Amino acid sequence: MKDLDLTKTADVVVIGGGVMGTSTAYHLAKKGCKHALLLERESFFGTQATGKCAGGIRYQFGTEINVQLSKISLPMLHRFEEELDQPIDLNMCGYLFLLTRPEDVRVFQQTLKMQHGLGVGTEWLDRPEIAELVPTVDLAGVLGGTFNADDGLADPSSVVQGYVSGASRLGATLQTDVEVTDILVEDDQVTGVVTDRGTVSTHVVVNAAGPWAQGIGQLAGLEIPVAPVRRQIVVTGPLPTVPNDFPFVIEFARSLYFHREGEGFLTGMSNPSESPGFDQSVDRAWELVHLEAAVERLPPLARAGLASRWAGLYEVSPDAHPILGSVPQLEGFFCINGFSGHGFMHGPVCGLLLAEEILDGGAHTLDISSLSIARFQEGEGIAEYNVV
Ligand SMILES: Cc1cc2nc3c(=O)[nH]c(=O)nc-3n(C[C@H](O)[C@H](O)[C@H](O)COP(=O)(O)OP(=O)(O)OC[C@H]3O[C@@H](n4cnc5c(N)ncnc54)[C@H](O)[C@@H]3O)c2cc1C
Repeated sequence: MKDLDLTKTADVVVIGGGVMGTSTAYHLAKKGCKHALLLERESFFGTQATGKCAGGIRYQFGTEINVQLSKISLPMLHRFEEELDQPIDLNMCGYLFLLTRPEDVRVFQQTLKMQHGLGVGTEWLDRPEIAELVPTVDLAGVLGGTFNADDGLADPSSVVQGYVSGASRLGATLQTDVEVTDILVEDDQVTGVVTDRGTVSTHVVVNAAGPWAQGIGQLAGLEIPVAPVRRQIVVTGPLPTVPNDFPFVIEFARSLYFHREGEGFLTGMSNPSESPGFDQSVDRAWELVHLEAAVERLPPLARAGLASRWAGLYEVSPDAHPILGSVPQLEGFFCINGFSGHGFMHGPVCGLLLAEEILDGGAHTLDISSLSIARFQEGEGIAEYNVV
């Protein structure tokens, strides 16, 4: 075992170097935290859920808290290059939800009103308007849909890289190839973390371990209700017959989505029967079901070759909302977990909010009390309909 050569003590130790951990480290350092230390067990930052995600960023959500998170986070992504000197391939192509079930139409028309109340300009589109927007899409069974031109895409790896460089410039230490193996606790207070390269004394630990959040909680004797669930993606070769300004299209009932990725398309479809687990191999049987559905909706896909495929893990909480903030049973333990398939876009704001919780004693950019882990003990989960 090689000893940690960098530091033996830290003000805050962040466990995990995906978008959540790196955003938290950056915002801690920006707010003046002198010794923030981020530990990532892989050899590169952002290779897990963040690096495997579809890059979608949207305002279209079914609960106020998710819309409010987007209302702060998406503008942070727009300012990202200016603030962090890192381009992130922003492409505001819009998100189009296709609805095929009358109950979805009812719910989306309701949530449209809620979004308008919060100043978000999502539009209702009838079938002919959808046909005009995406003439290459087969609209069989489509009853209508919602479109927001301010939704779009950004590059997850560039966002992580920007936060890593920004945090380092501000004095934080971010290290790869270090696995946290234990969390030390005395009298209900965090006192340190044990790693495969030595022990670090600290009074504050941030659980930013994404799909592995539950295991990190267990190291400290806590139950963090986050389950890993496999989701897969296929990227096709060039498809010049489909226009470049194509939006991010989601057929909601089947959780089927596709958007432009370079000259080809990226597509995914959530398997509703997938059991929780850490398997990240591609399920070829499900891939066939997925590709059949994708070609049905976007027939030109049948002519595109396959460029790449992969599987990653959603980090799913019981009510599909993040678990953000302190944990009442253990002083010094903070969570930024459970984003349930849409965490990339909320990484910027949630890192800021958690830095406020840690350094200022409470988040003030947005009231996040509804995202406290205490809601599960109190039986008050929040229901988000708009999960893909
Ligand atoms: C296929 C797919 C598509 C998605 N599409 C979208 C999308 O379009 N838009 C969107 O907003 N979100 C999307 N998401 C969700 C998004 O990717 C996640 O919510 C987000 O990336 C979670 O970030 P994270 O930092 O918490 O997790 P991660 O990126 O997984 O980071 C956690 C890190 O912790 C490290 N770690 C774990 N245990 C330890 C340990 N003991 N010691 C040290 N390090 C440890 C891991 O190695 C990992 O790097 C998608 C996810 C998937 C899988």
